[in-house]
Amino acid sequence: MAIDKFGRSISYLRISLTDHCNLRCVYCMPEDMTFRPNAELMQDDEIILFTRLFASLGFHKFRLTGGEPTVRANIVELVQQISDTPGVQSLTITTNGILLSKLAEPLAKAGLDRVNISLDTLDPEKFRRLTRWGNLEDVWAGVQAAEKVGLTPIKINAVVVRGYNERDVLEIARLTLEHPWQVRFIEMMPFAGATDLQINQVVDWEEMFQRIDSAHGPLEIVDGGKLDGEARLYHLPDAVGNIGFISSVTKPFCATCNRARLTADGRLRLCLLREKEVDLLTPLRAGASLDDLREMILEGIWHKPWGHGLEQGIIPLNRVMNEIGG
Ligand code: SAM
Ligand code: SF4
Repeated sequence: MAIDKFGRSISYLRISLTDHCNLRCVYCMPEDMTFRPNAELMQDDEIILFTRLFASLGFHKFRLTGGEPTVRANIVELVQQISDTPGVQSLTITTNGILLSKLAEPLAKAGLDRVNISLDTLDPEKFRRLTRWGNLEDVWAGVQAAEKVGLTPIKINAVVVRGYNERDVLEIARLTLEHPWQVRFIEMMPFAGATDLQINQVVDWEEMFQRIDSAHGPLEIVDGGKLDGEARLYHLPDAVGNIGFISSVTKPFCATCNRARLTADGRLRLCLLREKEVDLLTPLRAGASLDDLREMILEGIWHKPWGHGLEQGIIPLNRVMNEIGG
């Protein structure tokens, strides 16, 4: 079992399948983003080997992310092999949904359990502005396909950015009146000059809460405020779905963090918002044994940082979101 020096047991791995993406969300990457050459990314057999290694260390929850994981060639075969790996109990994906209308069915058949779909607005023009060229209809078709094939409960992730979509929280929250989805509003994490956005464009969860509560509320707390993953859940009167707030910036959930990340270029990233990483891919390619790699993982996890330093103004500079995997 992988434990850190604060006694947290780490059993959830988010694997970034690629840093490439078919969108360019303003809060995630610059418009002229250049991606890594494929040879620098983990190859399929390397991803499977790392999955087995982490599963042998007690990791049982796995999420595929990116960049956009669905643009990875062989995504369906990868999902099949990861879900067949002994010890993998839950396999989910975070996607922008653009390609999901075609992929939902084969992914579900391959063993995917659920999807989180990113959707920041229901207004096609604003969607285009936020993603720089995305077509909202494609995402909507993806959400419906995912629901049809049982990749449920559907979770919708909306990053809220001042000047872009802070008013759209109302319409998105209303989705829970008709759909049994979990709609989660996420505080934008500022990534220095790497994106166009600044810290004063962060909309904190209390502002989002107030907007929704006064328009459609009262919002009732679910499960006494117990976190569901990183989200604190609420419920609108007569809603069939739930509303979650992910307050990574103003009210972090580091004390209960159970996760580690594997970047698309094979680095073990110990905290989303800290630069510390352990390179696993270079030693693997240089012939390190599985035992050596296991030791590197356990040692890295032991030194997992307690939490991020956003309140002290410490922002990670070595990577932006698409390279880490969100
Ligand atoms: N491309 C996929 C997607 O958009 O769902 C998966 C990768 S994306 C990096 C993972 C999640 O991170 C998405 O929900 C996205 O909205 C979120 N995200 C990206 N940049 C962010 C930022 N600066 N602050 C907060 N969340 C961010
Ligand atoms: Fe691509 Fe996801 Fe980043 Fe948007 S948030 S640019 S969809 S990786």
